[in-house]
Amino acid sequence: MEKEYFNVADIFGENVFNDATMQERLPKKTYQKLKETIRLGKELDLETADVVAHEMKEWAIEKGATHFTHWFQPLTGVTAEKHDSFITAPQKNGKVLMSFSGKELIKGEPDASSFPSGGLRATFEARGYTAWDPTSPAFVRQDASGATLCIPTAFCSYTGEALDQKTPLLRSMEAINKQSLRLLRLFGNTTSVKVTPSVGVEQEYFIIDRNDFLARKDLVYTGRTLIGAMPPKGQEMDDHYFGAIRERIAAFMHDVNIELWKMGVTSKTEHNEVAPAQHELAPIYEEANVAVDHNQMIMETLKKVAYRHGLQCLLHEKPFAGVNGSGKHNNWSLVTDDGINLLDPGKTPHDNIQFLLVLCCVLKAVDKHAALLRESAADVGNDSRLGGDEAPPVIISVYLGEQLQDVLDQLIRTGSADHSLKGEKLETGVTTLPDFLKDATDRNRTSPFAFTGNKFEFRTVGSEDSVGEPNIVLNTIVAEAFSDACDELEKAEDFDLAVHDLIKRLAKEHQRIVFNGNGYSTEWAAEAKKRGLPVADNMLDAIPALLSESSVDLFAKFGVFTKTELESRAEIEYEIYAKKRNIEAKTMIDIIRKQIIPATIRYTTVLADSVNQVRQAAGDADVSTQVEMLTEVSSYLKDTKEKLTVLENLEAEGIKISDITDRAFFYRDKVLPAMEALRKPVDKLEMLVDKSMWPMPSYGDMIFEV
Ligand code: ADP
Ligand code: MG
Repeated sequence: MEKEYFNVADIFGENVFNDATMQERLPKKTYQKLKETIRLGKELDLETADVVAHEMKEWAIEKGATHFTHWFQPLTGVTAEKHDSFITAPQKNGKVLMSFSGKELIKGEPDASSFPSGGLRATFEARGYTAWDPTSPAFVRQDASGATLCIPTAFCSYTGEALDQKTPLLRSMEAINKQSLRLLRLFGNTTSVKVTPSVGVEQEYFIIDRNDFLARKDLVYTGRTLIGAMPPKGQEMDDHYFGAIRERIAAFMHDVNIELWKMGVTSKTEHNEVAPAQHELAPIYEEANVAVDHNQMIMETLKKVAYRHGLQCLLHEKPFAGVNGSGKHNNWSLVTDDGINLLDPGKTPHDNIQFLLVLCCVLKAVDKHAALLRESAADVGNDSRLGGDEAPPVIISVYLGEQLQDVLDQLIRTGSADHSLKGEKLETGVTTLPDFLKDATDRNRTSPFAFTGNKFEFRTVGSEDSVGEPNIVLNTIVAEAFSDACDELEKAEDFDLAVHDLIKRLAKEHQRIVFNGNGYSTEWAAEAKKRGLPVADNMLDAIPALLSESSVDLFAKFGVFTKTELESRAEIEYEIYAKKRNIEAKTMIDIIRKQIIPATIRYTTVLADSVNQVRQAAGDADVSTQVEMLTEVSSYLKDTKEKLTVLENLEAEGIKISDITDRAFFYRDKVLPAMEALRKPVDKLEMLVDKSMWPMPSYGDMIFEV
């Protein structure tokens, strides 16, 4: 097929109502008013909104849009949208007009009753409303349904409680902005006016053939395989990692990039991951709330474009047991409007002290709220991924690298650091080297929270999850640490002395959260326990951190979540857990009853017939192999049936438990182990039954033959 060549710069952002478009199309006064509103985070007046809406509509119609949607992120983890067409009621002449008002732009009222609210909205007042987030640009999405103007919005209840990811994220961004500015002012910075968390999200995913996907009801209903024997070759050769990208996948990635570029998403790197059929896509970092929106758009686009190519994108954290799972690396830093990265070690001693304080504040934040940070990355799929020997362990720790660790050690030991590992002395000798970035020794892949040059990389997040929550937590916990530091330093008589003491104290008090070794080792698990670091092995053990006293106080102090909002979120998580596990159990029962057992019985009759027929044809022929096979298959078949019955009974019992938390625990403690037990004989059968009779594609078919 002839490829069409084009210049990326020409298409980039062509479907985004971005600053350039606004400047070009809006009357000057309206443009300035809108910019000012965005800058100050104020509400847009209706008059301005009407003008903006009108121009936005005209622009969208030129792109072929027929509908608009308030695009939002309810607590289901995926995005939601309700499409309204631009048409008005027919006019006298029988024609319709295309209209879009300021009111429609600013505020929408989806029927919200079926979105999870964790008891926040009684059904009789089920309406919630969506409100435009002008800091995230509107865009036109083109797909099979034509073109739609998508307006990124926040989703709240009528009484103002957040029912989504965006509302608290924006609140947390305000908190970190305010506290970062306080800190910068202490260091004499009078010029920066805004500090924004920057986020770059690396997205991992699997691609398989769509026909294989459709033949696996477990993938269709649950996103992961519930049974499946390991192929003869796994990922032990590591030959897929960064390997050449196959043609079919390359064509898919090409289209993904074009779609994303048009919508203003800076898809930047793509490569194969460790596991066969696994890939990664990373955009360039940007403001946290835009990055969170863009990550959702990336996930949607991956799925949609895969479909067009006869492929299926699997975003589940662990689609294949025994094969590497998928995560999402959340790269996070703090950047001022005039381009200063607070996490950059910097070149002058003055900046270095500021950097060391920022660094120690992050250590304090992560140490104090490790359980909450862990919780922010908890989802059902991630339970199968975390703690394996490829994903970060469930224990949160910080990796600093040798050089930075050495500086901290000196500070703790002597109260001042006079050298870096390279032996280069800076004037006050407080910190490391200008080229620290390049020298940051090895890049520890086993750490859940690693300092990587000028940012932190939070790797615990699951591939299917929204990065909303991890960033809400990061922003708020660091805002708190900054606020505490500023409270102390603003009062100090001798700032230099005070900041010095504070850095030393923070480094000392929170060094237990630092771990530079191998996070996958069993020694670390034991050591972490000794250090008193929280360990939540699974989602249900993680959830209570949302409601701990320190979390409730933290979020209340910075106006990010009320206690009621936190309670509703915890309830939703229990509910999601119970529901997803229930679907998994029912799917497994369905597959095994209707596909695996019948196929196996068919195979046993083939074996039995063979014994009889061979005996008839040649009376003294040796049929012991057939008999042996028949015995073995029959015995696993029996085992399968018994374990299936156990699962069926437990599933029936679980679904009757009315308390949602109790039900979630029942699924974790009773149903999940029963599923794992049932899987064993089934995977044995897969190795015994004639492949042509096995009713679904194998692991090998799916991950090696795309
Ligand atoms: P890798 O982690 O694979 O070595 P990079 O370090 O180049 O790759 O970056 C990975 C991701 O981190 C990208 O999405 C990139 O945009 C993002 N990133 C780079 N610098 C920053 C920063 N200062 N703040 C936030 N994200 C960043
Ligand atoms: Mg990375």
